[in-house]
Amino acid sequence: MVTYNQESYASKDAYTAQIHLPGHLFEKLVWWALQALPDEILVGMDINSEAPHNQEVELKFRGSEHTEGLFQGQGFIIGEAHIVNRGDSYSVHHLPEDWTDDMFSTSRGSRAGRFTHWLHTHPNAPAIPSHADADAAQETSGVDMILGLRFSPEGPLPWFDDVEGVRRRVGSKAEPVKTKRKRRSFFARQELKTLGVAPSGHKIHEIQLIAFRKNGLGINVIMVDQNGYPYGWENLS
Ligand SMILES: [Zn+2]
Repeated sequence: MVTYNQESYASKDAYTAQIHLPGHLFEKLVWWALQALPDEILVGMDINSEAPHNQEVELKFRGSEHTEGLFQGQGFIIGEAHIVNRGDSYSVHHLPEDWTDDMFSTSRGSRAGRFTHWLHTHPNAPAIPSHADADAAQETSGVDMILGLRFSPEGPLPWFDDVEGVRRRVGSKAEPVKTKRKRRSFFARQELKTLGVAPSGHKIHEIQLIAFRKNGLGINVIMVDQNGYPYGWENLS
């Protein structure tokens, strides 16, 4: 999260707005994503209306093209998250009928428009929006986020990387482990460096996270601690 924030800071002029995501919530999202494999999950998120962005941080990360009033909930820390659906890359965006019928009018669209922000996962694929993601984002009042995870064992989802777009990694890129082995093996598999091991036993090699508005423009994500300060704050320059 420290290196992610460093990159957010270094590229602040590429964004028109920022959003502050608590680190403990981010950890929860990664864990939920792994528990739901091989499915994608859709997570609805609300702001904490009592927790505006720390102004010192907001100003430090503000870029030259900063714009006020871009989306609902702008200027507030993300407060809570709930899993609302799981499925494949298409169905995950469409909530079950009973969910939308009982609680919301159908005029609010496929995602029922209950939450301010939405996040969905890309198991073994980069965090870059597909056409279906762009469509679903049209009903979002806040921002849409994508969490991409590269992990092993891959199961039915080998890493898929044939996508154009800007990648934002949490930690380093997945790199092959250098081995000293000299003998040739016919079962050679590329071993990747491991960022961490999930309670499910999955080795995590790479994590990506982006946020964007329905017009496709990126929103700068900053991972904050319980006091609203970014991880690595003291070393930002
Ligand atoms: Zn997607």
